[in-house]
Amino acid sequence: MISENLHSITASLPAGVTLVAVSKFHPAEAVREAYDAGQRVFGESRVQEITAKAPLLPTDTEWHFIGHLQTNKVAQLLRIHNLKLIHSIDSDRLLRIVDREAAKLGKTVDVLLELHVADEQTKSGFSIAELEQWMRDRQFETLQATHIRGVMGMATNTDDTERIRADFRAIRSCYDRIINEIAPDLRRFDVVSMGMSHDYPTAIEEGATMVRVGTSIFGERNY
Ligand SMILES: *Cc1c(COP(=O)(O)O)cnc(C)c1O
Repeated sequence: MISENLHSITASLPAGVTLVAVSKFHPAEAVREAYDAGQRVFGESRVQEITAKAPLLPTDTEWHFIGHLQTNKVAQLLRIHNLKLIHSIDSDRLLRIVDREAAKLGKTVDVLLELHVADEQTKSGFSIAELEQWMRDRQFETLQATHIRGVMGMATNTDDTERIRADFRAIRSCYDRIINEIAPDLRRFDVVSMGMSHDYPTAIEEGATMVRVGTSIFGERNY
């Protein structure tokens, strides 16, 4: 099943869109099944879980962290072998801590800055105005060990497809303004991570370069 799901999703992705297979709450055996079907990039949302799972997979498995990151777990996360990208940097404060801890470990880490556009109080992240001001202030130049690769976001959790589309469009246009006008000298700023199982086709239409798909690959999660 996992391999069939993967193949049909992969076949539907345009060139240039990376699939992150979100394996949170699924056991290492399920990840292994996806790995054996050719998938290499996996997303996890809890530090404890990724710490337990990563050593059980081949060393060329690439790990992305997509969940809310607590500051006291940063050092543990950064020690994961082949941690490729942290999608969920939701504040300047968290970014500074990640930067400091990575520098301490003598590592560099790629991150995305999380944008809050959804119509929900609970979702964390930078507002579009905040992020654009942060870029205008050239805050990225003060980082030692962190490279900002792009932006991540989620659409409002709704059946209103036009609202979902508008949220994705807002994320992409913020990215475009940053790279075209605000900080055109940013290097390797090339990731727009948006879209999950129920809305990734819309996200791709609106300019996602990376989609994070869990349920449609691994089935429902048992929390
Ligand atoms: C769980 C999760 C996903 C995947 O969600 P599905 O609906 O299972 O595809 C994507 N992004 C984030 C941030 C998540 O926490």
